[in-house]
Amino acid sequence: MKPFWKDRRTNKSYTFGRGLFSALVLTSIALLLSCASMNTKEKGMRTEYVVIVVIDGTRWSETWGATPGLIPNMSGELRKEGSFLPKFYNDAYTYTNSGHAAILTGVNQPIDNYGDELPANPSIFQYYLKQTGKPATSAWIVSSKDKLHILADTKRPDWKGTFNPSVNAGVNGPGTGYRQDSLTLVEAKRVLATHKPNLMLINFMEPDGYAHAGNEEYYLRGIMRNDRYVKELWDFLNEQAPFKGNTTLLITTDHGRHLDGIDGGWMEHGDNCAGCQQSYLLALGPDFRRGEIETRYTLIDIAPTVARLLNFTMDSVVVVPRVDTTVVELAMDTTLMAARKDSIRLEIKMDTTVLKARVIEELFSGKGRR
Ligand SMILES: [Zn+2]
Ligand SMILES: [Zn+2]
Repeated sequence: MKPFWKDRRTNKSYTFGRGLFSALVLTSIALLLSCASMNTKEKGMRTEYVVIVVIDGTRWSETWGATPGLIPNMSGELRKEGSFLPKFYNDAYTYTNSGHAAILTGVNQPIDNYGDELPANPSIFQYYLKQTGKPATSAWIVSSKDKLHILADTKRPDWKGTFNPSVNAGVNGPGTGYRQDSLTLVEAKRVLATHKPNLMLINFMEPDGYAHAGNEEYYLRGIMRNDRYVKELWDFLNEQAPFKGNTTLLITTDHGRHLDGIDGGWMEHGDNCAGCQQSYLLALGPDFRRGEIETRYTLIDIAPTVARLLNFTMDSVVVVPRVDTTVVELAMDTTLMAARKDSIRLEIKMDTTVLKARVIEELFSGKGRR
């Protein structure tokens, strides 16, 4: 079984059995008491539409660390129109599914990266649809990676299967493979024009996909293309009603990639090296100030920020699957050195905790606030 997490400081790899994990999730959640709500209601926001773009697996050194470079649109015109956070990180699980779950649920959690496990907590899509009473076509996941259909739902029994957003993922849905980003952009525009959703997440996968394939030329080309697609999308949103002047666009990456010299460098990711943890956030919209924000934030802070923009609330108590205990069992017969084996038994503990994510206060211009 592939490790889902490797701790660079201790060099330990962690894996877990799906059965055990699921059982723990269900038993723990049974104990979960009803959650109090965190009041994030804010009057006077102009934002009515939020689009989050995740440019999957882009490393700082090929993007914001070398501007204009491959990202002339984002680092030029778009940055001038919005706020940029250079101290923005995935400081937890630097895999695609965990990174996206962190963005949408406001909670860091280890999660199966192959599309077989739902996030532990409801997403901003579900909160939004529940509290507004809008139909599923008001919230969309449009993703090049088919496996990201998991972001539409949660394991939490009191939310599972309810208020799910619409999904347009992969070539033709879950299990059909990754779709080219150019086609994902076409689909995103089509969905926007047709359904006029208030909340959308777009995943572009080409930088990550080609890097894993070891194709540096196409990894870099993917970054360049995505930079152009983001600009096209922003122009599209500003050309027409109802989006014009009412739309916030957030651009980030779910994780970076290893620093050169670590486990294949740019080709891979998934640990806590500085290259994997470094993300970025470019934020454009009618409620945001312009400039650079030096405060440190992480992926989980996107969710409560969107909640403030769209005037809905998130539960203040959340479920956190945590790697709590490792038990090392050594073989008893130490005289048989060749047969000696170590086994590490990992216990995943399901806990509830207060939502740690926080609104990125510095983004807000203050115009029209209470
Ligand atoms: Zn990723
Ligand atoms: Zn790394």
